Amino acid sequence: MQTSNCGYGLVKQLVSQKNESDLNLCFSLLLQELLSDRFDAYFFSKKCCHVKAQIEFQFTVHASGVIRQEECNTLLNLFKSALQDLPEHIKLLKQPSRTFFFAKTDIQPLGGLIVTNKVNNPGSVILSDKEEGLILHLLDVYFLQLKLLHNSAIDPLSQLLNRQSFEQQLTDIMHSENCMQTKKTDPENSWFLAMSDIDHFKKVNDTYGHVIGDEVIVLVSQLLKSHFRFDDLLFRYGGEEFAILFSTEHAELAWKVLDRARELVANTRFPQVSHVTMSVGFIQVGDDFQLSELVNKADKALYYSKENGRNQVTDYQQLNLEPQVITDCDIELF
Ligand code: GH3
Ligand code: MG
Ligand code: MG
Repeated sequence: MQTSNCGYGLVKQLVSQKNESDLNLCFSLLLQELLSDRFDAYFFSKKCCHVKAQIEFQFTVHASGVIRQEECNTLLNLFKSALQDLPEHIKLLKQPSRTFFFAKTDIQPLGGLIVTNKVNNPGSVILSDKEEGLILHLLDVYFLQLKLLHNSAIDPLSQLLNRQSFEQQLTDIMHSENCMQTKKTDPENSWFLAMSDIDHFKKVNDTYGHVIGDEVIVLVSQLLKSHFRFDDLLFRYGGEEFAILFSTEHAELAWKVLDRARELVANTRFPQVSHVTMSVGFIQVGDDFQLSELVNKADKALYYSKENGRNQVTDYQQLNLEPQVITDCDIELF
């Protein structure tokens, strides 16, 4: 380990990261720099999940080399079982061939790290006290920064992800390896972007006041959270407008998922207001679209739902809005 790298400089690198993927990359590179001549390091964090409060650990990045999915699962299971039996005060657990580092708050585990010997360097994992102390410290800083980034991505009223994090998440989905992997290894699944907007919301505010209007936004957000899956991403895009990024097998199924959400809202009894509805438009996320083009298209489908009676879901692909091929007989000369 290069002791010149210790302390302040490394912490500064972690706390200057402005989004989750950069933070993960930065932590991964730091681990590589610190350990990769002798060890492999794998770190785990709770999934950034705003849909359901579920404890789920995710393999975020590995420090060096290529790792197969089966190895990921084995290490993840090892980590989870070590965590299960862990006495409250323990943050470091040494086993002959690996060392576990844990990060936790007073009440819950946040995640952690496993250091193992390199395959070509069998034997015990031997880190100095100084190295162990530094890793524990960096792990705490990583999780503090992660929490900060998570909190800054949340809309305070609805507790959904906010507009600022929307672009980042959509860009990640459009371009990340993860998205490509999902498409390649599981061609059955695609990502969809839906824009939804509460109908006649101005009337709710005008009739019952803004406080009740806010309560409607909160309740609709909770209904959406309860409806969508753990991996789906829900954003408060604007006042009473929501963006949803979710993956499913095909457009017909996506329509059904969204229509059930629409139905859930329409069938819910809201305090004072009684009933509200929402309109939805959606589009399949493809590699060929620019981000703004994709949002515009989902918006066009939403406007179509609005213009055609509201309280309904429209698939952009069904709109036939793509430029038509002009044939000779379409052209009127005079
Ligand atoms: P449409 O069915 O076409 O969507 O009609 P609408 O009345 O919902 O649409 P419009 O965009 O005209 O009105 C949206 C209203 O939402 C106007 C604005 O005052 C209100 N609004 C925006 N943000 C908030 C918020 O945070 N809280 C509350 N209570 N109202 C909000
Ligand atoms: Mg509206
Ligand atoms: Mg609106």
